[in-house]
Amino acid sequence: MEELFVDFVVIGSGPAGQKAAIQAAKLGKSVIIVEKDHVLGGASLNSGTIPSKSLREAILDLTDFYERSFYAQDKPIRAVSINDLNYRLKKVLEEQRKILLRQFEKNKIKIVYGKARFQDKQHVVVLDEHQKVICRITADFFLIASGSKPRNPIHVPFDDHVILDSTRLLDIDHVPKTLLVLGGGIIGSEYASFFAALGTEVTVVDKKDHLLPLLDREIGQHLQKALAVIGLQFIGNKEPDEIKKVGDHVEVRFKDGSKLQAEVLLYALGREANVQDMQIEKIGVVIDQTGYIPVNALFQTVVPNIYAAGDVIGMPALASTSMEQGRLAARHAFGAKTHHFPTFYPIGIYTIPEISSCGYTENQLQELGFRYEVGRAYYYEIARNQIAGNDPGMFKILFHTDTLEILGIHIIGRAATEVIHIGQVAMSFNARIDYFIDQVFNYPTYAEGYRIAALNGFNKIKHRK
Ligand SMILES: Cc1cc2nc3c(=O)[nH]c(=O)nc-3n(C[C@H](O)[C@H](O)[C@H](O)COP(=O)(O)OP(=O)(O)OC[C@H]3O[C@@H](n4cnc5c(N)ncnc54)[C@H](O)[C@@H]3O)c2cc1C
Repeated sequence: MEELFVDFVVIGSGPAGQKAAIQAAKLGKSVIIVEKDHVLGGASLNSGTIPSKSLREAILDLTDFYERSFYAQDKPIRAVSINDLNYRLKKVLEEQRKILLRQFEKNKIKIVYGKARFQDKQHVVVLDEHQKVICRITADFFLIASGSKPRNPIHVPFDDHVILDSTRLLDIDHVPKTLLVLGGGIIGSEYASFFAALGTEVTVVDKKDHLLPLLDREIGQHLQKALAVIGLQFIGNKEPDEIKKVGDHVEVRFKDGSKLQAEVLLYALGREANVQDMQIEKIGVVIDQTGYIPVNALFQTVVPNIYAAGDVIGMPALASTSMEQGRLAARHAFGAKTHHFPTFYPIGIYTIPEISSCGYTENQLQELGFRYEVGRAYYYEIARNQIAGNDPGMFKILFHTDTLEILGIHIIGRAATEVIHIGQVAMSFNARIDYFIDQVFNYPTYAEGYRIAALNGFNKIKHRK
């Protein structure tokens, strides 16, 4: 058995682990990443963010999604094969893996493949697939960045063809004619919209009465309308009771006695932390009632030299936030200047149409009792949108009625996940709504929506005063 000694051991090579490892190496520390998969990159690169967003882009391009509003409105959607989709996916993943490996090599980060298991607060052992210990690593600091996996109950008969989770879905060998999605959260809604855009008959079922409850309600309603236009059916207030394969189809019986059948089922009812088999309890780290590792604002667990970041600590469980959590954890561990995680950060949801938001929703402002006003700009008012293909969408800016400070920005429509950053920067400098009015924006751009929405909101205040 090999004995290794380093400053920092990172468990997991997903976004949290990557950025923590690179940050520690930049601070001159010796770093080992332990990865149990045979490929680097975590769920983000191999089964989550990058594959799903590559598929989305391929679907928009191959179906001429935006072109259709000009040239092919009445024509059937162009048939797209799974090979066409996989070709692009493979290329993106290969390229991303190469970049990642290059970054690790450049920063002299050593990778040990195998499953990490704690022995005590200073040691982990690494096991191969036969559970044989291949090495023992001694370190001063550790980061648990072991991520999450789909929460799959044992009574659901998952296979690789009909009853799938978001990881298995990436291996389907054909584009299904019908798809039933259980779960109207981010993953369920994103994939549902991708397949609807491909021409698949998609039904999403959720126990809530609307999709994506985390959204500002108005944006959620806008999304549901836009999804109905591309043929997606949503059924709320329904919970599955039994899921079984009937012939080559899936049949779901719901608690209200109704049944639905489809060629493929996507089970997207949540994820759970990867904490099994790591023996964290041996070092005094316990999971909370939600199944995640609790940390303080500096990403330390109850054991001060053991940090945790990314999906393993729970919400918001995004690649974007995981990266920053990992980086901040490494900075704190090695005494570099650090700061708390930002209060406001953008959330990107890549449904078709995409959504992004930063700050409070209108519902939250009402609950908190803020005096606020709303500025809106609809995509049909934005010249760039007509040029690009008339996507439905809107900007919604919430601001304080008295101080004019921006409190929340919600955008649905093409480029939302990009243009949100303009608003995010403005908010981080405590900008007031009139900031957008006093600036010149490139024309024609989607970003111009900020100005239109700001004028709309500001005029309401002016007329009231
Ligand atoms: C379908 C889907 C779409 C998504 N889309 C987006 C998006 O558009 N934008 C966004 O920001 N986020 C998105 N996410 C979320 C994002 O993928 C995760 O938040 C992110 O991957 C979490 O990063 P992480 O580093 O915490 O963990 P992970 O990426 O899960 O990586 C953890 C790694 O740890 C390894 N590991 C686990 N246990 C051990 C062990 N004992 N020893 C060694 N290695 C171990 C695992 O093999 C894995 O490689 C999406 C997720 C899914 C599933």
